[in-house]
Amino acid sequence: MYEILYREDLAPVTKLIEVKAPLVARKARAGQFVVIRVNEKGERIPLTIADFDREKGTLTLIFQEVGKTTMMLGTKRAGDYLASVVGPLGHPSEIENYGTVVCVGGGVGIAPIFPIARELKHAGNKVISIIGARNKDLLFWEDRMRTVSDELVVTTDDGSYGRKALVTEPLKEMLSAGLKPARIWAIGPAIMMKFVSLTTQPFAAPTIVSLNSIMVDGTGMCGACRVSVGGQTRFVCVEGPEFDGHQVDWNLLLERQRIYVDEEKRALEHWKDHGCGCDDGC
Ligand SMILES: Cc1cc2nc3c(=O)[nH]c(=O)nc-3n(C[C@H](O)[C@H](O)[C@H](O)COP(=O)(O)OP(=O)(O)OC[C@H]3O[C@@H](n4cnc5c(N)ncnc54)[C@H](O)[C@@H]3O)c2cc1C
Repeated sequence: MYEILYREDLAPVTKLIEVKAPLVARKARAGQFVVIRVNEKGERIPLTIADFDREKGTLTLIFQEVGKTTMMLGTKRAGDYLASVVGPLGHPSEIENYGTVVCVGGGVGIAPIFPIARELKHAGNKVISIIGARNKDLLFWEDRMRTVSDELVVTTDDGSYGRKALVTEPLKEMLSAGLKPARIWAIGPAIMMKFVSLTTQPFAAPTIVSLNSIMVDGTGMCGACRVSVGGQTRFVCVEGPEFDGHQVDWNLLLERQRIYVDEEKRALEHWKDHGCGCDDGC
C-alpha cells in the first residue's frame, strides 16, 4: 500500500497527489511514468511522474479526472492509500546540453513537461517554454515553469489569461522569426502534439512527443499501447513514451484512443449510479 501524503486541487478537474513510494522515487527520472491502481480490484492506469523527491521517497502525480478511475482517484485525500504503484516505467528523456530548446506543455501535459524543462535547464540549455490550457482555471504551475525557463509564454484558448492562442501559434512565430531550437519537447493531448508536430515539420525542427496511448500492463507484453512510428509498430510502454513527433501516425493513435469509449462511459455511469463511495472497484 502506498500512502498519499499530500493532495492539492490545481484546477476543478486537475488534482495533484504526493505518494510515498521510496523505491520508485529512488530510480525515477524525468520523462518516465508509473502505473497505479486505486484499489486492489481497480484498473491499472498510467500517470507520468510530474516530480519526485529521492530524500523524502515521494512521487508527485498530476491527473485530470476524465473517467471512472481518475475520478475515483480524485476522491482520495492525504492519509488514504493506493493499492499499487509500479515503476518507474518507460525510457527517461534524453537530457543533454543541446543549446536552445523549446518545451511545450498543453493542459495536464504541463505536469510532465516541468521535470524535463528543469533537467534541461540544469544541463545548461537555454529553455524557452510555452504552456497553454483551454482557460485560466485549467492552468497550473506557471510559477514552477518560470523558475526553469529563460522565457515563458502562457496561452489560453479563450483568452481568459495570458495570450489568446493555441500553443502552436507562438511556436510558429518563433520558428518563422528564425529560432532554430536543437530540440522541441511537446506534451499534452494527442491532438495538440499532432499539431505541434505539423507546425515544426516544415522548419525541420526535431520534435519529441510523449505518447498517451491506451495501456494495460505497461511492460511490453500485452501490446495494447502499440503505435506506428516511421511505419513501424512500437510499444509506448517499453520503447517510449517519447518518440519523434514527425514520424508518429497521429490519425491511428487518435483512432485507437477511442476504441473503448463506450465501455469507459458505461463503467463511469455504473460507478456513479452505484453511488456507495466504496473502494471496492465497483
Ligand atoms: C504513459 C502515459 C502517461 C500518462 N500520464 C498522465 C498524467 O500524468 N496525467 C493524466 O491526467 N493522464 C495521464 N495519462 C492518461 C491517463 O492514463 C488516462 O487519462 C487514464 O487512464 C484515464 O482513466 P479513467 O478510467 O479515468 O478514464 P477512462 O474511462 O479510461 O477514459 C475516459 C475518457 O478519457 C479519455 N482518455 C482516456 N485515456 C486517455 C488517454 N490515454 N489519452 C487521452 N484521452 C484519454 C477518453 O476520451 C475516454 O473516453 C497518461 C497516459 C499514458 C499512456
